[in-house]
Amino acid sequence: MELHIMRNRLQRGRDHKAQAGKLLYAVPFGYVILPNDEIAFDPDEQARGVVQLIFDKFAEIRTIYGLFHWLIQHDIQLPIRPNGGANKGQLEWHRPSICTLAQTLRHPFYAGAYTDGRRPTDPKRKFSSGKSYKPWVPMEQWKVLIKDHHPAYISWDQYLNNRKQIEQNRNEPGSSGVPRKGAALLPGILVCGNCGRHMQASYHASGMGHYACNRQYVEGTEPRCYGLAAKSLDELVAQQVLRALEPAALELSIKARADVEHERQRLDQHWQQRLKRARYDAELAERRYQEVDPAHRLVAATLEKRWEETLNQQRQVQEEYERFVRAKPVQLSADEQTRITALASDIPALWNAPATTNADRKQILRCLVERVVVHVRCDSEYVDTTIHWAGGFESQHEIVRAVGTYAQLRDFDALMNRVVELREAGHAAPEIARRLNAEGFSPPKRRGEFTSPVVYQLLKRRGLIGDERSHDELVGKNEWWLTDLARKLTMSHLKLRDWAVRGWLHGRKTPLQGRWIVWADKDEVRRLRKLLADSRRGVNTYTSELKTPKKRPVAK
Ligand SMILES: [Zn+2]
Repeated sequence: MELHIMRNRLQRGRDHKAQAGKLLYAVPFGYVILPNDEIAFDPDEQARGVVQLIFDKFAEIRTIYGLFHWLIQHDIQLPIRPNGGANKGQLEWHRPSICTLAQTLRHPFYAGAYTDGRRPTDPKRKFSSGKSYKPWVPMEQWKVLIKDHHPAYISWDQYLNNRKQIEQNRNEPGSSGVPRKGAALLPGILVCGNCGRHMQASYHASGMGHYACNRQYVEGTEPRCYGLAAKSLDELVAQQVLRALEPAALELSIKARADVEHERQRLDQHWQQRLKRARYDAELAERRYQEVDPAHRLVAATLEKRWEETLNQQRQVQEEYERFVRAKPVQLSADEQTRITALASDIPALWNAPATTNADRKQILRCLVERVVVHVRCDSEYVDTTIHWAGGFESQHEIVRAVGTYAQLRDFDALMNRVVELREAGHAAPEIARRLNAEGFSPPKRRGEFTSPVVYQLLKRRGLIGDERSHDELVGKNEWWLTDLARKLTMSHLKLRDWAVRGWLHGRKTPLQGRWIVWADKDEVRRLRKLLADSRRGVNTYTSELKTPKKRPVAK
């Protein structure tokens, strides 16, 4: 028979068996194949307990990473029966890995389903090592799916939910994921009002959070969207949530107590199973030792040693268990109970308590708030904010974000007009500062209030103090004070000065406190805008076309 015919026949036979749900080489941990080929739960109680624990805990923690750390922290190992080797079929306990947990949570076997072709071989692709390429395919493309094929640890719905959760955790646009530990409160539910994408949080070394819309990185198009510092937005949402939470205090306290007790019971049960196993091992070793003929001294010595080991192990587990009980008694103590009740009745204290983690806060927040939409504009420090509450109610708010430059202040023109007015009325800097504060103006970066140095600097920069004003005749056709051009381009004057120093635009430094005068006609302004757009997109090698200024007409 020719090789390819034989291969095809084998493949057909294999497919046939799979269609009938009978092609099984191995089963995932938590299951065994009985001698009559039937699939059953692992006969070991602790093994079954651990599988159940994995699914229960995932429903609570909702990330694979979090589940992994919880298992490690509580020293819970996975019940593995090797498919081959000397220990084939014998129960072994292995440290969990993220990869194994991910496979377990995504495996339809635990929902009682038999499948084939979840990872078919892609005939068109091969790894350079020659290994065949086997991509995971979506459920619709599985070759065989037979539900209710064998006993299940979880329901089919729960299986689908787990898949969905893992999918959502991937932190892509449109998926909200689960609350993570970062200091910012809103990742996952914060939406850019400009483009509708989820905003991402990043953290400065100082721990200050910042939300940004990644549109320009993802799409590479203009106009870009703007971000904002996390602090004032988080404060607003937290404050609103605390107000909404107050009537729920009592219920929360009962729930919190139940949760803590439930977790302790689960862990205690796991410990009991470990103790039972250790006791059983020791008894078995003892029996074997007693049964051996004392004449076989070598065998007896080995068995005696084994017995001793199991006794040691038993003692060790017992000690660990006692330590666990001392640290976390199954029943909450009266003291703990009063503390939980007290905290829950004072929600703001609970919210701010050092023991409350950011993940807790986010979890609470997610129960109440569906999403928060912000409209950040580059030319305003005011941010329109809409909170979409669970249940469909929306509330509108406005926050003031920290902006870096005067050019970004929404009320800049009004502020400047007022400053000019006050200056022309002959007021000195301290008096101007006092009046601006009284009238509700504030400088950028929320530097607190206007003070005379701040006003002085502003006056100086705008040429209202010193003698720059009288030097305006220095500025020729299509020439600008550098700060004025920076304002027109809504960019930092420091960056523009850097470009001028590099020769990316025509300019000259004046003797007046080192201020620059630059030249830019309409074409040049357009070119600089493009350069700025590239720089904001994170491009770091600009084309020479963008860097080279237009030839400047000779002055007549
Ligand atoms: Zn956006």
